Amino acid sequence: KKPLRAIFEVGGNLSVVAVMLLLHSLFSYKYVTPLNVPQKERKTLVILGSGWGAISLLRDIDPSSFNIVLVSPRDYFLFTPLLPSCTVGTLQTTSIIDPLPWIIRGYSNGLKYHQAECKSVDPKSKTITIGSAPSAPDTEESVIHYDYLVTAVGAENQTFGIEGVKKYGHFLKEAGDAEKIKLKIVEILQELRFNKALSKDDVDRLSHIVVVGGGPTGAEFAAEMQDFIDEDIQECYPDVHPHLHVSLIEASPNILAMFTKSLIDYTRALFKKMHIKVMTKAVVKDVSKDSLAVEFVNAAGGKSISQIPYGLLVWAAGIKARPITMQMISTVPEQKGARKGLLVDEYLAVKGMSDVYAIGDCAFSGLAATAQVAHQQGEALAINLNVLAKQDSLQRELESLHRISHSEKVDDRIAAIENELLHMSVKPFAYRHQGALAYIGDDKAVAEMHLPFMKKTIPISGTLTYYFWRMVYLFELISTKTRVSVLFNWLTTRLFGRSLTNL
Ligand code: FAD
Repeated sequence: KKPLRAIFEVGGNLSVVAVMLLLHSLFSYKYVTPLNVPQKERKTLVILGSGWGAISLLRDIDPSSFNIVLVSPRDYFLFTPLLPSCTVGTLQTTSIIDPLPWIIRGYSNGLKYHQAECKSVDPKSKTITIGSAPSAPDTEESVIHYDYLVTAVGAENQTFGIEGVKKYGHFLKEAGDAEKIKLKIVEILQELRFNKALSKDDVDRLSHIVVVGGGPTGAEFAAEMQDFIDEDIQECYPDVHPHLHVSLIEASPNILAMFTKSLIDYTRALFKKMHIKVMTKAVVKDVSKDSLAVEFVNAAGGKSISQIPYGLLVWAAGIKARPITMQMISTVPEQKGARKGLLVDEYLAVKGMSDVYAIGDCAFSGLAATAQVAHQQGEALAINLNVLAKQDSLQRELESLHRISHSEKVDDRIAAIENELLHMSVKPFAYRHQGALAYIGDDKAVAEMHLPFMKKTIPISGTLTYYFWRMVYLFELISTKTRVSVLFNWLTTRLFGRSLTNL
């Protein structure tokens, strides 16, 4: 049964994705005419980050128009929507990563990459200061001048000032986080299997996997963990299986709050069936080494605090602005009061700073902090920057034509350039919502599909939606390398199970 199902899945996914890719390339092919501006005349475009916003921008920018300087501590692009699957070995983390050298190998024409962190931005002198990062400790501090700056530095984990979260909890944001969670799960399994001195309380605590944050990341991790428990652990460690249990804690009244009620109800019913305990209106007040203090609100509005022991704590409770974003906010009065991110106008230009743009999670534009938004903003900004480069190049040509003696040919060219400049303009960013997706376990997913031609969003759920979820992500992965890797990981997981070891 397993091999047949695996063949059906891989064959089905592959053919649908191939058709989707073909249609996509036919309908959205954007040929950017290379401007081939001489290197010394090009303006310097500095891009901060190598995530959804930055890489989407980079893939659509005309590399022959700018001297591009890319600054990011992370030398790869991470496909975050599939990160929860890496925590339990459904996918290998390397399968959802595209190394930067691969992405920028076509930009030999003047792209410079610094593996570093941007420490500060000075909009007056149009410079940034870069320096070392944990991933690049030897990077020396230096100053880089920019003509245009795009910040796409994302955001960091929100801990609400609870110190124990960083110390004892596990985040799920970066590739390294998934690897750390995987190691912790292996450690717990080994303790439970081999440490005969554990008391009943120790076993109960160690076997409790607690997830804080009922958004898609938290819910997807809980689902992946429960799948792992019910499939692989049950088969390989039947003595450990009965002890393990997953709880999902959420401060608001609902998990997956961005989905419609029918999908929330569907998820809660499935989680109940899968034995994932969902606790809503539950606010974590403190985190210590072995337990959480959680405040519950009862139906009458009364509050009580309970101590919840845990073996693994995964914290997926939202995001906040990074220090570099807060530094930028503090430099200009136009950003006064900004808390969640840099305030931007409809062209994604940072208010109060000329030639500085912000995209993705570090920008506050009233849109949700999602890959979908960051990706569309990156694409839209690339088109506008290409227009600015073209305008610049035409202006330069116009000035040089005005300097030479006039002839009919020169006058014609001047008229043509003036006409082209008249009809060339940057466009405001317009977001197109394409829907939302989440994997909820047991080969089931929930999705809100946006139908633009009907101007309607329809909720779908179940096993077919799970195949739809898989196909969408296969399609959205940015390279053939990651598509093939993910597909083969799904195939081997289906055939042979997840491999979780502390290599
Ligand atoms: P990021 O992608 O986070 O990239 C930020 C980049 O900036 C990184 O390369 C980082 O190294 C770099 N950087 C950080 N500090 C500095 C600095 N000081 N100087 C220079 N560079 C710096 N969204 C969806 O739409 N759908 C999903 O299914 C989905 N699932 C998700 C699952 C998980 C587990 C997570 C964590 C997020 C998920 N998201 C999803 C949200 C989505 O990943 C983010 O909204 C998106 O990554 C934002 O893109 P970004 O470019 O703003 O930031």
